[in-house]
Amino acid sequence: MRTLQTPVTELPKIRPVEVTALRKLGITTVGDLLLHLPYGWESYGEPVLLRNAIDNDQVTVVGTLLSVARKQSRYKRMPLTEGSLQDDAGARLKITWFKQPWIPRDFHVGDRVAVAGKLRASFGYQMINPHLEKLDAPGGPSRVGGEMPKYHLSAGITAKKLASLVEHALPLADELADPLPAAVRHRQGLLTVADAVRLGHRPGRPEDWSRAVTSMQFAELLILQLALLISDRRMATEPAQPVPYRQDVIDAFKTGLAFELTGAQRRAIWDIYKDIQREVPMNRLLNGDVGSGKTVVAAAAVAMTHAAGLQSVVMAPTEILARQHLHKFRSYLEESIPGLTVELLVSGLPAAERRRVVTAVASGHTGLLVGTHALIEEAVQIANLGLAVVDEQHRFGTHQREMLRAKGQGRPHFLAMTATPIPRSLALAIYGDMRLSTLDELPPGRTPVDTVVLPPRARLEAEELIRREVAAGRQAFVICPLIEESEKVEVKAATAEYERLRTEVFPDLRVALVHGKLKEKDAVMRAFGAGEHDILVATAVVEVGVDIPNATVMLIEGAERFGLAQLHQFRGRVGRGAAASHCILLSEDPGESSLARLELIAREHDGFKLAMEDMRQRGMGEMMGARQHGMSDIAMQGLLQPELLNQARQEAEQLIDEDPELRSYPDLLDAVQRRLDLTSIS
Ligand code: ADP
Ligand code: MG
Repeated sequence: MRTLQTPVTELPKIRPVEVTALRKLGITTVGDLLLHLPYGWESYGEPVLLRNAIDNDQVTVVGTLLSVARKQSRYKRMPLTEGSLQDDAGARLKITWFKQPWIPRDFHVGDRVAVAGKLRASFGYQMINPHLEKLDAPGGPSRVGGEMPKYHLSAGITAKKLASLVEHALPLADELADPLPAAVRHRQGLLTVADAVRLGHRPGRPEDWSRAVTSMQFAELLILQLALLISDRRMATEPAQPVPYRQDVIDAFKTGLAFELTGAQRRAIWDIYKDIQREVPMNRLLNGDVGSGKTVVAAAAVAMTHAAGLQSVVMAPTEILARQHLHKFRSYLEESIPGLTVELLVSGLPAAERRRVVTAVASGHTGLLVGTHALIEEAVQIANLGLAVVDEQHRFGTHQREMLRAKGQGRPHFLAMTATPIPRSLALAIYGDMRLSTLDELPPGRTPVDTVVLPPRARLEAEELIRREVAAGRQAFVICPLIEESEKVEVKAATAEYERLRTEVFPDLRVALVHGKLKEKDAVMRAFGAGEHDILVATAVVEVGVDIPNATVMLIEGAERFGLAQLHQFRGRVGRGAAASHCILLSEDPGESSLARLELIAREHDGFKLAMEDMRQRGMGEMMGARQHGMSDIAMQGLLQPELLNQARQEAEQLIDEDPELRSYPDLLDAVQRRLDLTSIS
């Protein structure tokens, strides 16, 4: 007997890569699967003859397979399938499928099939990655002449497969708990969860689907708003220590900097100073584009906190970043603010050093402690904690942030910094309990990074560019493609690329490798920062804020596999010095949608605009990093609809007014509690 809690692994014909792909989407049980509604529909109209179709039409073609064979793409990184089909009037269609190795296994020459997709009709007929179905399969084709759901996917699973898994799960829709109070549902004209799930996956009419989506969005938004209201109320009950404003401190701080603060930085610092003067703990999000200078804003807050006799702590997601912060905070603070010492705590410290740091911090002597999650894991007590800062906040869960805030007595002021810019409307909706400061201005003197998209055959050009830049004393990053199957495969691919570059392409240059599994990765990064390597081959670990001004080339292999926001992050690694910098996006997938995405990156340099676009294209969960918000993509899209959000907020306020503990609505309370445990809000 299947239930909502049955793991998806028990569904018929599911393969391990599909299980992994689903997990990335936050789907592990049959219940999760049901809640993952399609975000749109694609129409596969009645079949046409090729000669009657025109270039760029979205069409369905029926015919007989003349060939189907597995190939390797030129650079051996991607399996592909090539096939051809003859339609009933004798015209031929060439087809290429990327990354769908099961096609040659399940389809054979002579099969009657339907394919649906965008037709290219300039040099003969061609399709890339069309949807494919057998016509003589038992039960007949399910989508020909009909509609195909579009699901947010991750690599390893297709929309078709997801749709077929959902079919198996749908009979359980009735068992889904309905968190919405009936009164709210009636007032807002919404469907029950069971109906929304059934109609969302299998709408009879287009209106069914939009109503289903709205209903799901409303429920999620209501839960989020309730969680925000409840956490706001909890917060207000614990006081923080006020940090009085002192002009002499900020003057000394500014004098000690090698640059002028930007207007946006000054505004953010002022926002923070106003907050921390109060007894209500600050709860602020510093939202800024890559390279906008968030660190120095945090340093200004640390300086003022120190002047009030309180300590600060800064937590970063990786050791590389923590060490970089150590140096930056020292350079921003130690000379200009007398008596402020900055220490580092990461897991790899020698025991004696660790003891020294822990003692210094516990005695109240250390003004700022910088570190990784080791900060919360180790038995370190911060005598006088006044300010807690989390960098790249989406990499940490609520629980970790709470542990950090609990390191002192009472509640410290809290500042979170984003890794990638979040569109304002979205930030307000998700972090409704946090005040928001936005750094929407880059420090002056940055030259926009010249960005180009190249096919793999232009690799030589890219390599020559690297050679030229290195000859001019600069350095280059080479980022290896994201391989989702496993980190082991990814490391292997990066190692192979490193060997190829080191021995074949640049035998005369100094090439280094860094990846997540490498023990000495910090040492490698440091050496690269010190100019001891010319080229650094890396997996996605370098994504996070490393700052190496002398690097002027960022070459990204398999660029189509990354999201826009992530590519923007990579690009932000160069262009930090005065020299002109280059970002080269190598793409192995000639598909139009991925080319269009990459062209957008090449054109657009504003991180906020790219984030908005990324969200539209890939769904929001993906963009926000791990799906730690515990919300479905569909629901998150609801965050962008101000009217819906407003109504949810009003309903939430009314519910809390009438029943502050939500005693009459156990299912709702349950959902709110889960959200509070799960999300970044706290
Ligand atoms: P991010 O916001 O991505 O964390 P960082 O804080 O790492 O950015 O700052 C990026 C670089 O810009 C650092 O080298 C920093 O010293 C420099 N920087 C920050 N603010 C300014 C400024 N106002 N003028 C010039 N350089 C600045
Ligand atoms: Mg940073």
